[in-house]
Amino acid sequence: MAHIGRFFVDKTTVATNAGHVPEQELKNAGLKATVPRMRILEIFQKAQGGEQQRHLSAEDIYKQLVAENVEIGLATVYRVLTQFEAAGLIVRHYFGNDRATYEIDDGAHHDHIVCTRCGRVEEFVDREIEQRQKSIAERLGFELEGHALSMYGICADCRRKLAQAKQR
Ligand SMILES: [Zn+2]
Ligand SMILES: [Zn+2]
Repeated sequence: MAHIGRFFVDKTTVATNAGHVPEQELKNAGLKATVPRMRILEIFQKAQGGEQQRHLSAEDIYKQLVAENVEIGLATVYRVLTQFEAAGLIVRHYFGNDRATYEIDDGAHHDHIVCTRCGRVEEFVDREIEQRQKSIAERLGFELEGHALSMYGICADCRRKLAQAKQR
């Protein structure tokens, strides 16, 4: 029972405290505030504010840590990401390749569209799509617990670059 209670508190804290004191967030999630964990959580929190880099792979995080002169191995990054996911701090996605991408779990559902050229990820929520999925599940006799929708295409920047390359 204590476990369920703690899980609930985690979610609330992540939702309301996003972008604040990584040390406290780790404690709330039941994780000791080690240096690698704090630095990695900070990267996710910083990414949360920006538009482009909300969705990060282990390699993205590793590169940022190296750029900040943090001494850490890629294996540690993978381990910390697994711990964060288990603690409900982040969620994992697979966007059409075998490389996992992670983002902060703020509890709000959204779907994704991913550029197949540059990897840019945009988020969207569409009420009609959400409703249609519920109806389909119902029709097939399912009680819907969740879904993952990822669309793939070429983003506006990449389309412009492709058009320019053709003109030359
Ligand atoms: Zn692109
Ligand atoms: Zn997302």
